[in-house]
Amino acid sequence: MRKDYNLEKRKFVIGGFIVVIVAIYLCKLFDLQILDDKYSEIAVNNARSTKITHPSRGQIYDRNGKLVVYNEPAYDLVVVPRDVQEFDTLGMCKILRLDRKDFETLWKNMSDPEKNKNYSATTPQPLVQNLDSTTYGHLQETLHRFPGFDIAQRIIRRYNYVSAANVLGNIREVNAEDIERDSDNYYLPGDYTGDMGVEKSYEKYLRGVKGKEIFVRDARGRIVRDEQGKIKYYNDGKDNVDPIAGKDLQLSLDIELQQYCEGLMRGAAQRGQIMHGKRGAIVAIEPKTGEVLALVTSPNYDPAMLVGKDRGKNYAKLVDDGTKPLYDRAIMAAYPPGSTFKPTQGLIFMQEGITNINTSYPCYRGYINKGLKIGCHGHGSPIALQPALATSCNGYFCWGLYYMLKNHKYENLDSAFTVWKNYMVQMGYGYKLNIDLPGESRGFIPNAKFYNDNIGEGKWGANTILSIAIGQGEIMATPLQIANLSATIANRGYYITPHVVKQIRDVGIPKEYTEKHQPSINREYYENVVTGMRMAVTGGTCKNANLPGLEVCGKTGTVQNPHGQDHSVFMGFAPKDDPKIAICVYVENAGFGAQVAVPLGSRIFERYLLGKSRNENDEIVSEDTVSNEIENGANKWSDKWLQERPSVFDKKEVPAQLNPDNTPKQESEKTAHHPSPSDPINGLPQNREQEQAILTQPIVDIFTRYGIYKG
Ligand SMILES: [Zn+2]
Repeated sequence: MRKDYNLEKRKFVIGGFIVVIVAIYLCKLFDLQILDDKYSEIAVNNARSTKITHPSRGQIYDRNGKLVVYNEPAYDLVVVPRDVQEFDTLGMCKILRLDRKDFETLWKNMSDPEKNKNYSATTPQPLVQNLDSTTYGHLQETLHRFPGFDIAQRIIRRYNYVSAANVLGNIREVNAEDIERDSDNYYLPGDYTGDMGVEKSYEKYLRGVKGKEIFVRDARGRIVRDEQGKIKYYNDGKDNVDPIAGKDLQLSLDIELQQYCEGLMRGAAQRGQIMHGKRGAIVAIEPKTGEVLALVTSPNYDPAMLVGKDRGKNYAKLVDDGTKPLYDRAIMAAYPPGSTFKPTQGLIFMQEGITNINTSYPCYRGYINKGLKIGCHGHGSPIALQPALATSCNGYFCWGLYYMLKNHKYENLDSAFTVWKNYMVQMGYGYKLNIDLPGESRGFIPNAKFYNDNIGEGKWGANTILSIAIGQGEIMATPLQIANLSATIANRGYYITPHVVKQIRDVGIPKEYTEKHQPSINREYYENVVTGMRMAVTGGTCKNANLPGLEVCGKTGTVQNPHGQDHSVFMGFAPKDDPKIAICVYVENAGFGAQVAVPLGSRIFERYLLGKSRNENDEIVSEDTVSNEIENGANKWSDKWLQERPSVFDKKEVPAQLNPDNTPKQESEKTAHHPSPSDPINGLPQNREQEQAILTQPIVDIFTRYGIYKG
């Protein structure tokens, strides 16, 4: 029989067809099963609601355990508009003690996206803020009658002291930008975040970890409660997560010293006010630890001004105030450090072998060299490092930098200047110190490239830039950097990055605030400088800081200010051995360092080390005309030059004639003889006749020579 291949084929096709159908059917069954699970999952989700619970924010204490910032709970009535059902409006009005019209106005404001920027129908919206305790109690008992309504707890920051607003900062509601930038996905509209101060820099520790409560809704979307009206949590609350409170901070600040220092700058503190007075800053550091004991800026304001419903209004007031109370001069302002810079120069010259402890330079009422005069006051000449520090001699430090920049041990001027600049950076200048507060300024230390770019390669020399040796010219430093130098000298050669938080509870202190920074300068040179700074207090420009029973070391500064009176500066530490406090006092437009900043400094030492506060009515301005005179006199003459000298910051070409070193002689000068520390000093008279000749020679001063000085 002939096989019917066609039939065979057809059987095969039909069989295959059945297999495919069965397979499809099985697949469908499987699919339905899966889908079914999905449906049930969605159904459960619909019946659950998650509410975020907020942790309490960490509190802030001072170094002695005094509570500085704490939380007060505040309760708001909130509404999730989507969840609201028909409710007893009159009953609600009665609980809130509002008439119907007022209630309707509140409702309208809440649901108007113009007035309520964070409006959303699905998240809790504030309806009534700051409920009083009676209303809060009534609402707690009756809330189950009002689906969609809830009570939200938030915290209000309270301040025990009208002090330290710049260090503490404040908290504010997050904005859209905060939420967008938030890589942790922590913030939701209506949340609070730190703004300025430690509230900002330690936000991640202070804010804590949010928790959640999951509850169940019935078929009509209402939250399910038990017979007593208590919320029934999903899975008996087993999936709820408790919030974790934020970490407390212990500041390194001594809040009472802080208050005292603020008082020295601007008188009595006033609640709710901007406190004007002197302009400037005080920074006090514990040298051994880098802990900041006081960080004062003036003018200043009550930190409580930025809390509650007046926050916006007060913030605008602070921004509009011409004295800039929000600007933290202690860390943000870059000032010329003036003569407080001189100890750094002495250290560099000794370390580089340009000078030794006995090297003396001439100073006949100033540094006089090749038509450049930088004036000084009357004192014996020649003069060595320690008396030069004590009398704040300009000549000594100008000659020192001149001989360093001309020294043959360096390949050329650029490399000599680079060596100088690197020491300055090691001593904490020119870059941010990285204090644990936002907004720090880096100050300014020029490098060779800066002068090459702004004056021109080969167009500048030692004399062109010499005013930097006395902390003028292009040099800029924050009061924090000056205080940090004081701490470095007090420690005889190291500093720890200054910081305002002593420890974070349960966490400790970030490692960067325990590490020593050590400029490559030998300890013995610091000892030499310490002796000079001690001499300044016992018989030099800082006599007003001499306190019986306390070995204070110091250095004054009087800083030329083109916009008005000089700035008055003091940098010092005490006691000389085993120092406990190092400070910088910087008072704008106050006159001589010896007159204002030194008496303020001495009061800070007295208060912190001896526990004494001089009577507030005591005259702060010094009567000691002797030390005033030392800072005055011929100094003013050179100041005039410093003031009228074209600034390289103007970015204009400096006229060639104003560059004393930019002469054809320059090449031969580079190869001229330069003294080693043991050599007789160039320019120093060898006998009476020579001395007389120097004293009587007409001084062609740089500003008379170029017709700048009309005085
Ligand atoms: Zn001098």
